[in-house]
Amino acid sequence: MDKIILTGDRPTGRLHVGHYVGSLRRRVELQNSGEYSKIFIMIADAQALTDNLENPEKVRQNIVEVALDYLSCGLDPTKSILFIQSQIPELTELTFYYMNLVTVSRLQRNPTVKNEIQMRNFEASIPVGFFTYPISQASDITAFKATTVPVGEDQLPMIEQAREIVHKFNTIYAPVLVEPTALIPQNAACLRLPGVDGKAKMSKSLGNCIYLADTPETVKKQIMSMYTDPEHLQVSDPGHLEGNTVFTYLDAFCRDEHFERYLPEYACLQELKEHYTRGGLGDVKVKKLLNNIIQEELEPIRKRRKEYEKDIPEIYNILKKGSEAAREVAAQTLSEVKSAMRINYFEDMDLIREQAERFGSSVQGEN
Ligand code: ATP
Ligand code: MG
Repeated sequence: MDKIILTGDRPTGRLHVGHYVGSLRRRVELQNSGEYSKIFIMIADAQALTDNLENPEKVRQNIVEVALDYLSCGLDPTKSILFIQSQIPELTELTFYYMNLVTVSRLQRNPTVKNEIQMRNFEASIPVGFFTYPISQASDITAFKATTVPVGEDQLPMIEQAREIVHKFNTIYAPVLVEPTALIPQNAACLRLPGVDGKAKMSKSLGNCIYLADTPETVKKQIMSMYTDPEHLQVSDPGHLEGNTVFTYLDAFCRDEHFERYLPEYACLQELKEHYTRGGLGDVKVKKLLNNIIQEELEPIRKRRKEYEKDIPEIYNILKKGSEAAREVAAQTLSEVKSAMRINYFEDMDLIREQAERFGSSVQGEN
């Protein structure tokens, strides 16, 4: 079976380093591995509207920001199809049919949705669209017959929901849909990168981010003010690694070669950690190392972004072409779904013939 990728992001802000380590970096590697026959990268504007209904302008403005982030990280429109969710009406149609396959209580059990409802103060009154977004996400995945969905850990319940929908659909109707598999980062720190405040995960909606497009000065400021170990007051005090955001970020970004360049007195991160927990290593030194590493990683991304920013109409052109290509694929799947569900009346000559016989009328072209 062909290996196909579908993944995406909500245009609710620029992309941040959490997206980068959680999914984006991997996508580029997978794209360049040549192992996948098709790669679909979706800007999920319709999903973003489910909790930004009063702020359509925010969603509209961020489409191009997300596309610029994609291109500057190395997603290549000649290898990956970059498209906008709302431009593929077939996705909405699939969602409508999949809704019959899911119960309200099943949606209520989704831990990510539960958490997001709380974060958005939706407890008293949840928009139906938001509540059902896992179903819409199943449509996004299955419309492209994706086998592989590279995402952060918070998306695992969505993939599980999609698999259940596929299983149920294929059992009831016909084996049209493909069960997707989530591809989450192997590195634990990348599963859910915390915000610079050390709280929760880095998230556009929480404003605790280092954005890929931030200037070197902003990045440095964010890193230098990062949450560490509140009990590590003096350099000589033993420090704790657990919950220490700077070390979590080092786990996500640091490679041995970085020590040769920026801190040659240590061979690797493990040695640095040992010194920190022993005492005698100050937070500033560790933060400076992290700053060097993140700046090194972000510099080429920033540079490429500047280039792409010079031709914004071309960005829209890439998205338009991508959306057209994606639509063709989704339309094909929808047509298979509709025949499996027996709602393809006009293409089904057998149905027309059977009914004609039942009523004793003639069929055109036949006697
Ligand atoms: P929002 O707050 O609007 O939901 P977000 O920052 O959570 O935005 P999404 O667009 O929802 O970003 O997520 C896009 C992808 O990035 C998903 O695969 C998600 O798992 C991953 N991701 C988002 N934040 C992180 C993070 N802090 N660490 C690792 N992966 C992340
Ligand atoms: Mg999110």
